[in-house]
Amino acid sequence: MVAGNWKMNKSPTEAKLFAGLLASKIGKETVMDIVVFPPAIDIPFVVDVLKDTNIGVGVQNVHPKEKGAFTGETSLLMVKDLSVEYVLVGHSERRHIFGESDEFINEKVKAVLSAGLRPVLCVGETLEEREKGLTKNVLERQIRLGLFGLEKEDVVNTVIAYEPVWAIGTGVVATPEQAEEAMAFIRSLLGELYGMETAENVRILYGGSIKPENFDALIRLKNVDGGLVGGASLKESFIELVEIAK
Ligand code: PGA
Repeated sequence: MVAGNWKMNKSPTEAKLFAGLLASKIGKETVMDIVVFPPAIDIPFVVDVLKDTNIGVGVQNVHPKEKGAFTGETSLLMVKDLSVEYVLVGHSERRHIFGESDEFINEKVKAVLSAGLRPVLCVGETLEEREKGLTKNVLERQIRLGLFGLEKEDVVNTVIAYEPVWAIGTGVVATPEQAEEAMAFIRSLLGELYGMETAENVRILYGGSIKPENFDALIRLKNVDGGLVGGASLKESFIELVEIAK
């Protein structure tokens, strides 16, 4: 799976143009899932441009409640109405800039699954946590609490993205050894919690400063099932990443 998180970039006009380019270059791809996560306001336009392609559309954030007095938020009922399939949950920018807790993230994961959509649960340690030797503790906490109360059937519909915070938007990518160590740990934790068969069926993505120059070495790793790409998903390099993942 190759996923592009556009973050707060691209106006509806720019999004339509770029989606058109993706449709023409990689829209017929069948060997992997390709998903883009545009800003919420761009989604209707992007869905329309991509409707006859194999490129899926996801949303970067939702509120777990169905509707009501939550100024500025987007509900799952709204995104479902637009054939959106995936929802990013627990992205480090939501955790660290907007102060989202593991409990709130768990509420969102559950709401996404009950709506019949697939959550992409993002986890990852900060540099400080890594330097203190706390990487595995942080990943374990974020996964246990993020997936709390889910059944095996729900877990297989969940994608996990390992995104070390120090690698996001910094140009510093995890080495293949660092990525594999963390992601093998995530897989074995999922095995412990839900059984190895379920764990093998959960897709685990790496994210953080992915570029065409470093993606090949990451995508080959045993426990890497794809990439969640930020900066490099905003331009033609996203097409190159899809080619590399083949
Ligand atoms: P980046 O972002 O590829 O720009 O580092 C990744 C992400 O935040 O998902």
